[in-house]
Amino acid sequence: MIKKFISNLLAKAGGVGKTPGKPDLGKRMEVPVKTHGIDHDLVDDRAMNVVRTLQEAGFVAYIVGGAVRDLLLGLRPKDFDVATDATPEQVKSLFRRAFIIGRRFRIVHVVYGRGREHEVIEVSTFRAYLDNAAAEQVAGNEKTSKSELAGMKHAVDSTGRVLRDNVWGPQEEDAVRRDFTINAMYYDPQTQVLVDYHNGIKDAKNKTLRMIGDAGVRYREDPVRIIRAVRFAAKLAPLGFKVDSQTAGPLLKCLPLLADVPQSRLFDEMLKLLQTGHALASVAQLRKLGLARGIYPLLDLVVERAEHPFVNAALQDTDRRVGEGKPVAPSFLLACVLWADVRDGWAARQADGQNTHPALHDAIDDVFNARIGDVSGRGKLAADMREIWLMQPRFEKRVGSAPFGLVQQERFRASFDFMRLRADIGEVDEALADWWQEFSIGDEALLEDLVDQVRQENLKRPRAARAPRPESDAAAEPTGAPKKRRRRRRTGAASPPGSAGDPQ
Ligand code: ATP
Ligand code: MG
Repeated sequence: MIKKFISNLLAKAGGVGKTPGKPDLGKRMEVPVKTHGIDHDLVDDRAMNVVRTLQEAGFVAYIVGGAVRDLLLGLRPKDFDVATDATPEQVKSLFRRAFIIGRRFRIVHVVYGRGREHEVIEVSTFRAYLDNAAAEQVAGNEKTSKSELAGMKHAVDSTGRVLRDNVWGPQEEDAVRRDFTINAMYYDPQTQVLVDYHNGIKDAKNKTLRMIGDAGVRYREDPVRIIRAVRFAAKLAPLGFKVDSQTAGPLLKCLPLLADVPQSRLFDEMLKLLQTGHALASVAQLRKLGLARGIYPLLDLVVERAEHPFVNAALQDTDRRVGEGKPVAPSFLLACVLWADVRDGWAARQADGQNTHPALHDAIDDVFNARIGDVSGRGKLAADMREIWLMQPRFEKRVGSAPFGLVQQERFRASFDFMRLRADIGEVDEALADWWQEFSIGDEALLEDLVDQVRQENLKRPRAARAPRPESDAAAEPTGAPKKRRRRRRTGAASPPGSAGDPQ
């Protein structure tokens, strides 16, 4: 997080957005607990431990950034960052499991716990404010030898782009480099004092999202802040936050600057908009702020299709899952967004006489080719999307060994959830989704029963109407298997909330 912030911050320094002289560093305000009212119980023990350890070693240390903002607003932060005047080496020496990461922007990861339960507290050293003009001067000074440059903590290339930004500075300079006033506060969990240089506390109270300094300049320094503005506007809208007019004003004008941002960074920012629990709110904010088009092609498509029942259901579902603390996969959401193209291409190819499976494969290839820039270089993501789509026709086969094989597939759950959404909008039979729901959670005997049911139904239907089955399935179907006692359909766990199975 902090690493990203720092790398984002200076990615374009020197090229654009020259700030003449030092910016307004603000006025340090120390706000006591009786004024800010942060609930100390919401502070993570490990973050507390990092701050305490640093302070006991004689350093200045605070919780910083988004965690302070969330604490102030009464939200439980999802992660904690710490800022300190200790250098990365000094930080590392104080913790058993600490790793200095990044070259351009060195920070320390202090790691607690193991495996799934592990937690990383990112510790960054206060960075000095970067004066672009000075940076360019260094770059333009031919007398600066390579070895001198290499020895400098703060080096720039010939265009003034910062190669390394490891110049440590005072806290007020660290604060002014942050993006929004509410993201630039420091909280000492020991004394419970909150340090604020840019009236973040006042903006939090007045529910205003405001960029520090001149918003136009700050977007030019790092255009990704445009997307961050949308993200925080969406996240905080339910709390009544509005984007300050001077912060919102230059957004549209600065939009073309995003063309210079690496695609991978835009992609990651798009995912943050869509997968942090505020997908629908982000779409609403994109429209409201006039950014419905132009950030990233796939995002344009999400906004365009946000009201399509299927995409809408997927966005809602994603928000719900994040809200419930469940994991979400970008492959699922993007598979939903692009499904209409796959489905229509698949149907068209079948209408042209192509067989079901090759038609689907080719339709998927067409979609990836058309959007190669959007998901290229993301092998796993594209592979997962492909698998979700390719599994859809396999849900039609419910006899023989086919369903047993399907539930074993690694991507079964995602593919089933995808099919469930299709059923929700009437694209596949609801009964089919219910059947798979049962099948995916049932015990062995129930599974046999379910397959048996389908076989019986198939037998009752006129021959021509029966679903075609591959040879292998037919062979696997038991012919003289003993009849099993039909058990009552289970209710409760397997039933969606509000269904007949729910005790009301
Ligand atoms: P979230 O709750 O979504 O993690 P956050 O505010 O913590 O929100 P991060 O991306 O984790 O956001 O960044 C941590 C902090 O680093 C921010 O609060 C902000 O102070 C600073 N920051 C991050 N990105 C930028 C940027 N592009 N420009 C300026 N400051 C930034
Ligand atoms: Mg964060």
